[in-house]
Parts: sequence; C-alpha cells; structure tokens
Amino acid sequence: MLVVMSKNASAGDIRNVISLIKSEGLTPHDIPGAIRTAIGVTGNTGAIHTERFAVLPGVVQVIRVTSPFKLVSRETKPENTTVKVGNAVFGGEELAIIAGPCAVESKQQIEDVILKLKDAGAKMIRGGVYKPRTSPYSFQGLGLKGLEILAEAREKSGLPFVTEVLDIEKLPEVADYADMLQIGARNMQNFPLLRSVGKTGKPVLLKRGISATLDEFFMAAEYILAEGNYNVVLCERGIRTFAKHTRFTLDISVIPTIKKLSHLPVIADPSHSGGERDKVLPLSLGSIGAGADGLIVEVHPEPDKAMLDGLQSLYPKQFEQLMDKIRTIAPAVERSL
Ligand code: PEP
Ligand code: MN
Repeated sequence: MLVVMSKNASAGDIRNVISLIKSEGLTPHDIPGAIRTAIGVTGNTGAIHTERFAVLPGVVQVIRVTSPFKLVSRETKPENTTVKVGNAVFGGEELAIIAGPCAVESKQQIEDVILKLKDAGAKMIRGGVYKPRTSPYSFQGLGLKGLEILAEAREKSGLPFVTEVLDIEKLPEVADYADMLQIGARNMQNFPLLRSVGKTGKPVLLKRGISATLDEFFMAAEYILAEGNYNVVLCERGIRTFAKHTRFTLDISVIPTIKKLSHLPVIADPSHSGGERDKVLPLSLGSIGAGADGLIVEVHPEPDKAMLDGLQSLYPKQFEQLMDKIRTIAPAVERSL
C-alpha cells in the first residue's frame, strides 16, 4: 500500500500516518526522491483497512500496490531512480560503463589495464576477489589482497570499483573497501545476504539468477529496498535456456520490461552471457538499444593469459572500439556516453 500525502501536509500529519502504520504492526518506508510525498507500507499479511488511512489529515490518496514487489515497483515510485557511484550515474541520460577483468590476479594486471579503461570512458572498474567457482579446487580469488590492489588502483585512477561479496562473513571487509557491492547470479536468492547488503546502505549491483523469473529478480531487489537501501542497480547477465550456441541467453527483452515495471536502473552483462569475446559487441549494442542504463564488461590486459574467463574478455583495444560504437548509437536512444 502507498499513502500519498498532500504537498501541504505538515510534519505532524506525516508523523500521524507513520504512527498509525506502526500501531497496525506494519512497516513504513520513505519513498525517496518522489515527486509526491508518499509513504510505502509493507508487512501486511491480510487485508489493510485503507479507509482508516484515507481519512487522516494531509492524506490525498491511498493506493493498493497490486504487484508482489512493492518498493521496487513504478506504482510506488513513478520516476526513475538514479544510483551514483563516483562519476558513474546509473539511470540518468548518460550511460554508465563498468569494465575490468573477471578476477583480480595481481597488482601488475590491474595497473596494466586501468588507465586504458579510464581513457576509453569507463566510469567504474570491476574485479572479483572472492570468486564463486563451480569447482572448489579452482582459483577462489585473492581476497583481502585483491581489495587492497583495487583500492590502490582507485587512488591512482579516481575510478570507483565494484566487487562481489559472496557471504555475510566477508561483508564487513568487502564493504570497507568497495564502492559498490555485487551480488552474483548464484546468490540472487541468498535472502540473509540481501538483507545484510541492504543494511549497509551501499550501492548494490544485483545480478539476475541463472534461472530466475523476472518476479523472483524483483523480489530479490525488494529485500534490499525493504532495508531502506534504494541504491540498487539490476543486471541482466543471461539465463539458462536450451541454447548451446552461447554461454547463457541474454534476455534482452527483460530490459524494457524492467524499465516499464520498475524505477530501478538496469544494466547488461554481455560477457558472462555471450561467453566469447566476439559476441560482446553485438550484445552490448543490442542492450543499449533496448534501453539498458549501462554495461558491465570483462576486459583483461592479456586475455590469453587470464586465469578466468579469458575467452570472453576483451583486449583493451577492443574495449576502446566498443566504446566508440556505443558513442555512435547512444543518441539514437536519447543517451550519451
Ligand atoms: C562476475 O561478474 O564476476 C560473475 C561471477 O558473474 P555472475 O554472478 O553473473 O555469474
Ligand atoms: Mn567472469
């Protein structure tokens, strides 16, 4: 439910509404940046008596939010949410491109690539230090050492970074260093972790689960917003289908659907979906054409020597070419780079 307040509602009117919400055992939520002053209400398991709210001073309208996702929904917040991480703005007119290797492998590797990414126009760096690996015997990431390398690179380049947080145990450490916390596809429905990243208030990059429906994806985001953290960027990274010609099937049609149903920004990952570097350019352009607010792209200084995901990693020169192409097509969808 959404309680819409009059522009002239006093602080006392708003307090009144909030105390009635609480006295009914429900949870009030500020809807930030809304054109209208509105209070979101969650926690109802049965019917709410909306008329009890409608008659309070300062209340203009009480709206039942029909979708299962409440705070994520455009019904609750009609205007786009923008998420700012340094100079990267997700959900604005300018596209936000994140680039970097799959995993941080060494200080040298990051130094060799970061300024090239910056010069090409990347606004943020990516690099995994806690990697979700299919095999427990594979390289699991550099951990704290990797965070220190990324922090040093941020110092030198001025670019903020995103990195995956795999579990609650490591969350304080990762949150201490990272500008944005990535929840990977495999953790999209790790509900305690979602609540915990919500509580940090830090920007979150939430990747869609490998077999998640759109409703499940939205409900995962809802866990983070329900903790009062609206700094959530959704990421379509490909889902599992019968197709064998690609690593995952990039669900481009989900991008305009997300834009229609939710106020949250959405970016695409052409690297993990395509699985091969020659698919990265077409999938990137298609995603931007479909309305994506940005991309997360794997780039490695020497892809042939990469410890992880080398086949899908671009050479720095190819990333430059990709950015040039994006600059050309962005105006066709009223965007810039
Ligand atoms: C990644 O971005 O490093 C990653 C592991 O992606 P995903 O969770 O989408 O597989
Ligand atoms: Mn990867």
